[in-house]
Amino acid sequence: MEDMFRFADDFGPARIIHICRPSLALKAIVVIDNTACGAGIGGVRMAPDVSVEECFRLARAMTWKNAAAGLPHGGGKSVIFGNPRMAGALKEQLIRAFADGIRDITDYIPGPDMGTDEQCMAWVKDEIGRAVGLPAALGGIPLDEIGATGFGLAACVDVASEFIGLDLKGARIAVQGFGAVGKHVALFLAQKGALLVAASDTGGTLADPSGLDVGALIALKEAGRSLNDHDKGSKLAADAILDIDCDIWIPAARPDVVRADNVSRLRTRLMVQGANIPCTPEAERALHERGVLVIPDFIANAGGVICASVESRGGTQRAAFDDIDERIRANVRAVLEESRRQKALPRAAAVALAERRVRAAMQTRRWR
Ligand code: NAD
Repeated sequence: MEDMFRFADDFGPARIIHICRPSLALKAIVVIDNTACGAGIGGVRMAPDVSVEECFRLARAMTWKNAAAGLPHGGGKSVIFGNPRMAGALKEQLIRAFADGIRDITDYIPGPDMGTDEQCMAWVKDEIGRAVGLPAALGGIPLDEIGATGFGLAACVDVASEFIGLDLKGARIAVQGFGAVGKHVALFLAQKGALLVAASDTGGTLADPSGLDVGALIALKEAGRSLNDHDKGSKLAADAILDIDCDIWIPAARPDVVRADNVSRLRTRLMVQGANIPCTPEAERALHERGVLVIPDFIANAGGVICASVESRGGTQRAAFDDIDERIRANVRAVLEESRRQKALPRAAAVALAERRVRAAMQTRRWR
């Protein structure tokens, strides 16, 4: 028999729930990891191919991310199996049915993730009265629209580049994935003087060592087109983004894109993880051994959840940006100093920091 408890450790997961509504072709998984710090907050992903294990790893990343950011939330994540580009009416029906399925899972607060957006969260909120990352019309701070995660990543890049003596002015950045996260980090970094030398989406990689026009690329994506429809730059295969010579490489697409079999292709000094779990542990270790500084996902990409947390407490957009800036800068400094002191991987230092916070919260609970 399959070992259903194979992921379990001191921290969780508290529950793994499968939701199935055959008449609507709804299949979903919810993982509630650790709730010692508060109700689990984490995105709803819509994708055709996510395993329970991947969902658990994403939920655990939320436990660490929320604790590391000092938020009053635990970790959770959910996946709805389906093509995120399905017709609008079908998507609404599926999201509403999913919301109904999590109605009683009150220690899980859903937010947007890959394949879902503010509109989807509005449907969830309408069904069950509980969601973050809502549209402005519902009193939300539209975190993808304002680029909360990209803003946090740019703050992270600022601190990390100072740490390795890299001047952001003229620094060459390559971004994998040009969605809500990728396009905004490119924009905020361009505003700080960095040069976008390559970006990719599922249609391919667009590269230009003299720098791409970030605004034009964002306009292209917003018109529903692919980066390779741009009239300038070299058009390469999607995975050619791995080979780009750059100073800062930012994954902002899918998990496990950098693995033992392709890590040697990266030519960068700094990796700031916008995507969740974009590197396998072996690949991350290999980068560290080569002297590439890697800022782990749950420290670097916490901007979205910090924004969602500010929203759930009734705060404003301005307050969210200030909170993201302050928390991410402080955390990146703490992690880098600890990792330098311990000669440890930044991820090990970051997990130790988050674990300390979760364990302290667990001590206050009757059911640990
Ligand atoms: P999105 O759906 O808006 O954009 C994803 C982008 O990745 C699209 O441009 C898509 O074309 C591209 N893509 C997919 N597969 C690709 C591939 N193999 N090669 C190149 N590009 C590819 O999603 P998003 O909200 O920008 O999220 C991106 C990543 O960041 C995910 O891992 C997500 O979990 C993580 N993340 C997002 C947020 C947030 O606030 N949205 C917060 C934290 C982490």
